[in-house]
This record gives sequence, C-alpha cells and structure tokens, in this order.
Amino acid sequence: MPLKLPSTFAFSQSSLQSYVNCPRRFWLAYVEQLAWPALEASPYDEQEQQLRLGGQFHQLVERAEACMPTELLADGLDYPLDEWFESYLRHRPDDLPTEMVEVERELSAPLAVEAGQYRLAARYDLIAVGGEGADRRAVVLDWKTSRRVISHPTLAQRMQTRVYPYVLVEASAGLPWGPLAPEQVEMRYWFTAAPADAVSFGYSSELHEANRAKFEQLLGEILSGERERDFPKVADTDENRKRLCGYCIYRSRCDRGVEAGELEEYDEEAFSDEDLEMALEFTLDEVQELAF
Ligand code: SF4
Repeated sequence: MPLKLPSTFAFSQSSLQSYVNCPRRFWLAYVEQLAWPALEASPYDEQEQQLRLGGQFHQLVERAEACMPTELLADGLDYPLDEWFESYLRHRPDDLPTEMVEVERELSAPLAVEAGQYRLAARYDLIAVGGEGADRRAVVLDWKTSRRVISHPTLAQRMQTRVYPYVLVEASAGLPWGPLAPEQVEMRYWFTAAPADAVSFGYSSELHEANRAKFEQLLGEILSGERERDFPKVADTDENRKRLCGYCIYRSRCDRGVEAGELEEYDEEAFSDEDLEMALEFTLDEVQELAF
C-alpha cells in the first residue's frame, strides 16, 4: 500500500524540498498536517512582518503587471516596500518576451510512478512567452524578498529550480502558447536585495530527463513509507540543529531544542522563503489570521 496522502495533495517544490531537508518534516507537515504552536524564529513579530511584507510585495507586482497605474500603487508605501517597489520599477528585466505574460499562474503536470498517478504543481510569479520559430522562448520569473541573495550554486540545488521549468514544459503542451521544448525555457530569480543582478538558469532536454528521474526517485522513496518511523529526522548534528531544526516549527516535538533561532541568523539557503511561509502558516493559524 502506498503512503496515504490527503486526497487533494499534489507534490510541489516546497513539499519535495521539505523531504530532502528532513524526511520527518515532510511526514509531520504533509502527511499528518500537524500544526504545532512553537514559533519558528525569534522574535516572532519580526518574522511575521517579514512574511507579510513579502506577500504585499508580490501583490503590488501582480497589480503592476496587470497594468494598474504604478504611481497609484506606489502612493503611501512605507519602508521597505517603497524601496522594493522602486527597485522593481527600475530593474524589472527589460528583455522578457511580451507576447504572453501571466502572473500568479498555477500549473501542474502528472507524474506516473509505480505506486500510482500523482501530480506535481507549481505556482508561478510570472511567465513570459514570445518569439517565433527558433527564437520562441519562455522566461519564468520568481520575485524574492529574502534578506540576502541566494547564491547560484545553492539555487541550482533547490527543488524550485528543478520543479518550475519541468512543470512548465510538461503543462505547456495543453496550453494555447505551448508546447515548449526544454531548451526554450529559462528560470530567473530576481531579488529585492540585488535587483540589478537577477540569477538565471537555462534548461535543456538532459536536465528535463534528469529532473523527471529525480522526481520519480523521490516519489518512490516517499510513497514506500507507511509510518512516522519511515521518515527519519535529519541527522542530529550541531549544524543541522542550527540551520534546520532551530527554525522548524516541530523542534519541540522532535526534541531538537526549545529556543527559536534568531531571525538575523536565518539561513535562507537552507530553508526557502516558501518553507518559512508554510511553517508560519501552521503557526499563525493558531494565533491569528494573516491579513494580506
Ligand atoms: S525539528 Fe529538525 S528533525 Fe524535527 S522535523 Fe524539523 S528539521 Fe526535522
């Protein structure tokens, strides 16, 4: 019997990244869907504020991309949103295809493994497609409001860098602006922390096949588990305690410390802001509604 997952479950970059970081975290968050009232980092207010600002920035950009007047959107913004939005206006990449631009688009693709048919889903900040024949291309843009720029080698290892282009290629076959070959797709990260220096990744048929194999391997591992003990905790080392458990909402349950990590030391290369977002959702549900 494959692992029983909630009926609406689709794999995503966040859930796969959780599994890769710590199988137990995947079990607790996605199988048990367990809320745990430990604050992920300290101080709590600052972390919540960080999350709220990230959400507001994405909303601003979404509206600007939908051609709402930018002066209107910029009016009355407080720091740091005013600076971030100014950076977006000045440094929005000017080489994006223009034929089709979609924002906040969700796509998914089937993944067939021995245990059955599953879906891999991605939510895109922006997809831009255009050009004819050999010049046709698609750029996936992801806006990041993390405090620091995440390095190219670290991003290359992240599930998001694998999942987003993969799902786009697979899903594009059924879309009016598809199909897209892997070679036509580029993944780009844009940082408020360095708005002129977006980090870009090309894509290829080889990477696409390697990603498919990786996802099948991960799903095979995950779906062969049945119980909590099949999803071990990340090794108990000082480094893992500092980089992973200290910011994880399950640390008291896992007996990996009671004190939250300091947000100033938050290692955005270890946990993505999506991980942080997800972890916070569990926490904040218990405390108060997030008013994005
Ligand atoms: S506290 Fe540590 S061991 Fe427990 S789920 Fe979180 S990352 Fe894994």
